[in-house]
Amino acid sequence: MPKVSVDVKVLPNYINGEFIQGETSVPVINPANGEKIVDVPQSTRDDVEEAVKAAKEAQKKWALVPAPQRAEVLYRIGQLLKERKEEIARLLTLENGKVLEEARGEVQEGIDMAFYMAGEGRRMFGQTTHAELPNKFAMSVRAPVGVVGIITPWNFPIAIATWKAFPALVAGNAVVWKPATETPIMAYELVKICEEAGLPKGLLNVVYGSGSTVGEAMVRHPDIDVISFTGSNETGRRIAELCGSQLKKYSLELGGKNAVIVMDDADLDLAVEGIVWSAFGTSGQRCTACSRVIVHEAVKEELENRLIEEIKRLTIGNGLEEGIRVGPIINQAGIDKIKRYIEIGKDEGATLVIGGNQVHPKSLENGFYFEPTLFTDATIDMRIAQEEIFGPVLSLITVKDLDEAIEANNSVKYGLSSSIFTRDVNKVFRAQRDLDTGIVYVNAGTTGAEIHLPFGGTKGTGNGHRDSGIQALDVFTEWKAVYVDYSGKLQRAQIDVETQ
Ligand code: NAP
Repeated sequence: MPKVSVDVKVLPNYINGEFIQGETSVPVINPANGEKIVDVPQSTRDDVEEAVKAAKEAQKKWALVPAPQRAEVLYRIGQLLKERKEEIARLLTLENGKVLEEARGEVQEGIDMAFYMAGEGRRMFGQTTHAELPNKFAMSVRAPVGVVGIITPWNFPIAIATWKAFPALVAGNAVVWKPATETPIMAYELVKICEEAGLPKGLLNVVYGSGSTVGEAMVRHPDIDVISFTGSNETGRRIAELCGSQLKKYSLELGGKNAVIVMDDADLDLAVEGIVWSAFGTSGQRCTACSRVIVHEAVKEELENRLIEEIKRLTIGNGLEEGIRVGPIINQAGIDKIKRYIEIGKDEGATLVIGGNQVHPKSLENGFYFEPTLFTDATIDMRIAQEEIFGPVLSLITVKDLDEAIEANNSVKYGLSSSIFTRDVNKVFRAQRDLDTGIVYVNAGTTGAEIHLPFGGTKGTGNGHRDSGIQALDVFTEWKAVYVDYSGKLQRAQIDVETQ
């Protein structure tokens, strides 16, 4: 296995184009083996202050650069990411634990986002329309919001940052970014690339540190005009309260409790493959991970047996090693939470059919591993079927027909992703209409979003915004309606209109 390492011992903050050492730091731990990779600063409110000051100053000039020129920088960022994809993917596995194949996929999302948003530099369409009065012109344009605060989780440490930073930058904003303390290396690698690509100083600033200090300082800062957050519902609620009290714009992408529906006419081979990939990929630590299977009673037994066989074949270990399919959980706190839910599931009366234990693979005894786990005979009211576990734990719920399946799917407080396996086109169209989630897959698992479509969810998954897709621009721009009256006289709307 080639050696993977970071080129510094302590990651520096990146403020106004300078790498700045912090005063205190904490270790970043490789979840695969419990070893320290690097240290990361625990920054202060003063560091946030410096970053916001730099961003505010830089944004004034950047907003006046034509969008196609702003886009040129994003094209170069995309190109550099592409050239360094393998190196960055390995570092991503090192800090986050996901298997290398998935890490490569995540970096690819960043590359795709760079090129897609660079394309927006030549589109970013507004509307022109007819005015109701003669000799008057009407149009709408997008204007940057100013300084954008980005707060990201550890489970997609580079992709989510690019979903937010790239649309923000192409739209003429400056960014202050706080990555998750568990996974700061991707931020360091990304700012190095942005600098090399020629992004002017002050437009992308990174301040490492805790959510309670750095994150809250950003949310409270009067010169941060919008907060774009991805993470847990608990933190999202706190951010919503703080932003609400300041009338600050904010976008939240939160948790999920995603289900795969398997109907009696489904291709079961395909369904098993889709379920296993979306439930146990990233060890179940995806917001879109499948954690419920809603299965038609006619195929329940067969599906359950096939799932057990497939789960037995999954290999657990260090994601940098060939042939490993399930990497570690991010830390011991993550393991402890999963263990609590295993006990909850048993107490509620669900049947544990496979898995359920923390494991210590040979020579990785200090890593954080959990067996892929399947509960059967779960019901929709159980906590294991309602709450986000964020680990490789799947619950099987049996239903009689499509109506019941859709009701079960929609019974949770979240609304991120859902999927249905069926060969019946009528069921497909009914399901895509009635499943109350922001993303619906047909004959595929619950994961696999593409960056040019809107990403996000309904209900408790967010507050109505979307990351990625053209819709991401709505978070980072304000719509401005512009009326140009060239009649040479005062024309009063709704009053001086001649009726025919
Ligand atoms: P988290 O604990 O909410 O942390 C997310 C980020 O918020 C981290 O950078 C964290 O900083 C920061 N933070 C914590 N408290 C804060 C506060 N009071 N003010 C401002 N920032 C604060 O979530 P997580 O455990 O990292 O991520 C897992 C969650 O993210 C899951 O619920 C998952 O479903 C969700 N997620 C959603 C999506 C989506 O698009 N819907 C995508 C991926 C993940 P520190 O941790 O460094 O202190």
